[in-house]
Amino acid sequence: MNETSITKENDSLSKIGWNFDNSYARLPEAFFVLHAPKPVRAPKLTIFNERLAEELGLNVEELSSEMGVSQFAGNTIPEGAEPLAQAYAGHQFGHFNMLGDGRAVLLGEHITPEGERLDIQLKGPGRTPFSRGGDGRAAIKPMLREYIISEAMHSLGIPTTRSLAVVETGEAVIRETELPGAILTRVAASHIRVGTFQYVANWRPIEELRQLADYTINRHYPELEQEENKYLSLLQGVINRQASLIAKWQLVGFIHGVMNTDNMTISGETIDYGPCAFMDQYDPETVFSSIDRQGRYAYGNQPHYGGWNIARFAETLLPLLDEKEDKAIELAQEALSSYADSFMNNWQKGMREKLGLFNEEKEDEALIQNLLDLMKEFEADFTNTFRLLTIEKHEETALAGKKEFVEWSEKWQKRLGRQAESKKDSQQLMMKSNPVVIPRNHLVEEALEAAESGDNSVMEKLLNILSKPYEYSVEHTEYCKLPTPSNQPYRTFCGT
Ligand code: AMP
Ligand code: MG
Repeated sequence: MNETSITKENDSLSKIGWNFDNSYARLPEAFFVLHAPKPVRAPKLTIFNERLAEELGLNVEELSSEMGVSQFAGNTIPEGAEPLAQAYAGHQFGHFNMLGDGRAVLLGEHITPEGERLDIQLKGPGRTPFSRGGDGRAAIKPMLREYIISEAMHSLGIPTTRSLAVVETGEAVIRETELPGAILTRVAASHIRVGTFQYVANWRPIEELRQLADYTINRHYPELEQEENKYLSLLQGVINRQASLIAKWQLVGFIHGVMNTDNMTISGETIDYGPCAFMDQYDPETVFSSIDRQGRYAYGNQPHYGGWNIARFAETLLPLLDEKEDKAIELAQEALSSYADSFMNNWQKGMREKLGLFNEEKEDEALIQNLLDLMKEFEADFTNTFRLLTIEKHEETALAGKKEFVEWSEKWQKRLGRQAESKKDSQQLMMKSNPVVIPRNHLVEEALEAAESGDNSVMEKLLNILSKPYEYSVEHTEYCKLPTPSNQPYRTFCGT
């Protein structure tokens, strides 16, 4: 097949319910390249997020029919879609590069029945003008991995892009070996990244930068429209959302793995689940990504690099912040200096909640740090330690029997006793703040292995469990087991 064989959906026949209004395609033409997906040989639906489809106001039955699958595969363009590849740049591990959608195509923006504007993007639909040496394709396992982890993040209450479907293409992709090809349909508040601003600020005239900033404010921060210096408010808004987002990652042990500026959204959603993974044993130096040899994006470094990326964002806004460069820099620096405090406030609040604390005391910082230090020293599992503290099974933690832990527990109990709320209230707060299940690496791998060999049941069961991560049930406890110890550290890979 070639591009000419793409068909256009006639929505009066399919009744899928798409409601496209493509505002990004109306922005300056340098922001994107109109580009259709390349049809694939034999699309087959592997997984479909019915609940999300319903939330989007789409017809589940129609969408899982041949026509829907053809759309998820890029073989049929939905009525109203205007496929394009977005231009962007980015600092990759500190080095600035021109990037762009090398293996993604934005179909357009779907307006939900509630009036929400959401990007519908195909990931893995073939080469685009930004593909450089890549094939523009994706393999089944990494796409299912993004599906599982992004949906788990959503259920954990963490802002994220969503996954609507994964189709197998019926074509092989060549990696180290031949692998089954696949396409993920991703749903996002938008795909505007720090890297989008970097691209425009570097290579386009200031009027276009202003257009991008105005568009972004209108789409993601409409409440800032009337502010005196709305571009400074935009910077502050992004700082606040990213400080909150990264604190949420830290609180569940999520490691993004490739926090390059092209993988940081302006909307504040987590994006681009490549080499990400959840930490089992607590250790700030945890790194899973095979390409992150220096540990730049280790768990404990994420807050710092969040700030680093936002500083790159601030640089792009300088010409809009003030006519005088000195003044613009001063304003940007003042805003940037709030990031560390904002992150810390979010994180400490979250940590207090994980310990059942409603109010704030000066000693809380030490109480929290002491526990983390003990967890590091005694190689305690991050999620399970908090889960077991929640259900008062301290004896099952890796800290049980350690005299330092006994001392810490006494201090914690006294601290709990000093607040007005009851023990029961505390426990309820802890249950809402400490997930029972996270997408542990060995569980995800097990599900992907089974799916690759044609059995989706393991993945479906896992997805079901992960959709209620705070449910303290017997069934959930089954998923808390740690992997059998291995000599090989767990490794994740980019761009597969
Ligand atoms: P990432 O860090 O995975 O988000 O990707 C960085 C850049 O590489 C982006 O511009 C991607 O579009 C591009 N890229 C990743 N994988 C491929 C591929 N298989 N073919 C073409 N471009 C790719
Ligand atoms: Mg990316």
